[in-house]
Amino acid sequence: MAERRITIVGAGLAGALLATLLAQRGWKVDVYEKRGDPRVQGYGGGRSINLALAERGRHALRMAGGDDEVMAQAVMMRGRMVHFLDGRTDLQRYGKDDSEVIWSVHRGELNLILLDLAESAGATLHFQRGLADVDFDSRTARFRDDRDGGLHETAFDSLVGADGAGSALRAAMMNVADLGERTEFLGHSYKELEIPPSPEGGFSIEPNALHIWPRGRYMCIALPNDEQTFTVTLFLPNEGDPSFATVRNGTDAQALFERDFADAVPLIPNLQRDFEQNPTGLLATLYLDNWRIDDRAVLLGDAAHAMVPFHGQGMNCAFEDCVALANHLERNADRAAAFAAFQEERLPNARAIQQMALENYLEMRDRVDDEDYLLQRALERT
Ligand code: FAD
Repeated sequence: MAERRITIVGAGLAGALLATLLAQRGWKVDVYEKRGDPRVQGYGGGRSINLALAERGRHALRMAGGDDEVMAQAVMMRGRMVHFLDGRTDLQRYGKDDSEVIWSVHRGELNLILLDLAESAGATLHFQRGLADVDFDSRTARFRDDRDGGLHETAFDSLVGADGAGSALRAAMMNVADLGERTEFLGHSYKELEIPPSPEGGFSIEPNALHIWPRGRYMCIALPNDEQTFTVTLFLPNEGDPSFATVRNGTDAQALFERDFADAVPLIPNLQRDFEQNPTGLLATLYLDNWRIDDRAVLLGDAAHAMVPFHGQGMNCAFEDCVALANHLERNADRAAAFAAFQEERLPNARAIQQMALENYLEMRDRVDDEDYLLQRALERT
């Protein structure tokens, strides 16, 4: 059989997982990543420090043989721990027992595990090679070396864009094809802060929960990390009061927390510093009508369908994409047909999850502390 070759752009979460799944099935896989190798120079940060991993994502990790290693550093989250304005808390379980839970995983550690898996499966990883441009007629891609700015030309059979929300491959595809791209900004942004371990050692608050401080138009959440810290994410509108327009520095943030998130203040000793040093992240939903160009290129993960993070499903959905694409490529020797079948399967699913993620922002910030709603949930559980 002729050698089956594929070139993946991006060695983030989806790129590394897809590389593993295809290399395990005998494909010759080359992966080009803009950043340096995080296993050598440390993880350079990403879109969030930790992520909620759900069953959809775990299924994909099992297929790649990575679930055990990932789960060894994951922290179980049994439900939402709601922090009311008056300091009361209430744990709302996700399911009846510990078979229905989600897991908090560290993005950097997860990426390292996936890169090792990809390499041991036989994929070749090229770091500090950011996609610069593509000539689809001659099937050549040019990658820029971060260190000296030099351009390296590579021939490809097919390109897979796993290069995230700001995908360079998507931009190159849009030069030659109409993808029907539409980006809708949420009008809310986020900032990450940290709860360190308690002075006595151990977690400062209940570790096995996703903590939420719902406050109507805005909220805070906190997810546990295996080193006994929590990553807190403050979500605020971009305009109005309070918003990132009125909460502009550490002093403003301290005042907001003392008023609206009082029980969290003693937990975040470096609140002012974190607020000023950490970047403010934008939130948007990316819609495309078309993810591919015949057999030459296809997009997946955030490059195809970035979403707001309120359902904790962006990575889980990207992992499902990887399994679906690997299966279609395995089943169908006609690559254009495999890409088409992949899009047909996954695009409606991605749209549905994007919509649920938008709806869940309202639920999380506005409804989980509503007494009637809590009563209804309690009755449902009995
Ligand atoms: P990315 O993880 O963004 O990886 C893209 C990779 O491509 C990166 O390594 C990047 O360096 C590389 N790259 C970029 N440009 C180029 C280029 N030109 N050439 C080569 N390489 C390039 N999802 C969940 O499932 N659960 C959660 O709890 C969750 N929480 C989130 C919280 C926040 C605040 C945010 C913003 C997102 C969250 N997500 C969550 C979504 C999740 O982060 C993404 O869906 C996921 O990272 C998508 O993976 P990806 O591989 O498609 O893209």
